[in-house]
Amino acid sequence: MKVVTIVGARPQFIKAAAVSRAFQSFTEIEEKIIHTGQHFDANMSDVFFDEMKIPKPHYNLNINGLGHGAMTGQMLEKIEKVLLDEKPDWVLVYGDTNSTLAGALAASKLHIKVAHVEAGLRSFNMAMPEEINRILTDRISNILFCPTDAAMQNLEKEGFNKMPIQIVKTGDVMQDAALFYASTARSLDFELPKKYVLCTIHRAENTDDPARLKSIFEALHRIGKKEKVVLPIHPRTRKIIQQLNINIDGEQIILIDPVGYLQMVYLIQHADVVMTDSGGLQKEAFFFKKPCLTLRDETEWVELVQHGFNTLVGADSELIVEAFDKVERNLNFEIDLYGGGQAAQEVALNLLNFEA
Ligand code: UDP
Repeated sequence: MKVVTIVGARPQFIKAAAVSRAFQSFTEIEEKIIHTGQHFDANMSDVFFDEMKIPKPHYNLNINGLGHGAMTGQMLEKIEKVLLDEKPDWVLVYGDTNSTLAGALAASKLHIKVAHVEAGLRSFNMAMPEEINRILTDRISNILFCPTDAAMQNLEKEGFNKMPIQIVKTGDVMQDAALFYASTARSLDFELPKKYVLCTIHRAENTDDPARLKSIFEALHRIGKKEKVVLPIHPRTRKIIQQLNINIDGEQIILIDPVGYLQMVYLIQHADVVMTDSGGLQKEAFFFKKPCLTLRDETEWVELVQHGFNTLVGADSELIVEAFDKVERNLNFEIDLYGGGQAAQEVALNLLNFEA
């Protein structure tokens, strides 16, 4: 069975690390990886392949720095060429980026079966490019691998159960990665404060809205007076804070370049609180038993909010600081929300045993 996997952005490398490892345990599965090139900096791409021992991509399409239309269009064209050569049984896509949609669309037009890992998630906010990508990808897939009960319910409500699409709850492959790499966490090359807030910001709804971004940084500076904020900054966010002249006071906020996954795990393990607009990091906070404040108005990972592990704080500086002051640190994290770390194995088995 030949599987062509499409990756392009940071969170997809982490998911692919878990699934490729599972594929390697089956001699019947041959995997070819296409890297679309969406994320290309060494610290946004190579570091994950090297540290997490992901097989090197067989194809690098080198598509980046373009608007949504040009990016998705070029990916579609170039992925189609590879698929015509490789003639795989499956195309496997992850999550909700332009690479996800382009891969799924190229495959489905060629009548190649599509598998979507992290299917069924919804923010119900159609202004998010990710929401458009995930809804369309789910619709043209042949098998949907859902990480959570909420994802299963979303698909049911949208009528997916009546479509000729297989739906499987696997648990979350990011949980597999967290479990696998937890013991290999790597410290940073500077001394971290004893107590700190770990923060990441990269989502377009925050970076592309100057008022929201300024308000978030105002909150971070205020919080930083009580407890330092460590912020591995996404290249896009760095560029925008420079353009907007947002001053970062190093006394309150320790700005660092993006780190690899192993250092990220270390940063989470030693943090007091996590603050983020990242999808992946909301769950990783939970995996490593840290409370999380989410700098968004909604989340796809609703179970974390329902159980009190995560609080949606939006971008209003007053509300963010208020929520930080009230954050509950003594939470009982002993609940299984994302499966026991067998999600990638489930993906492999379901592809092997698939019957149309
Ligand atoms: N991550 C990382 N280094 C960083 C920031 C994030 O390794 O400097 C990891 C993070 O731990 C998570 C993934 O990247 O596993 C999340 O990616 P991102 O926040 O870019 O995307 P999202 O999850 O929001 O789609």
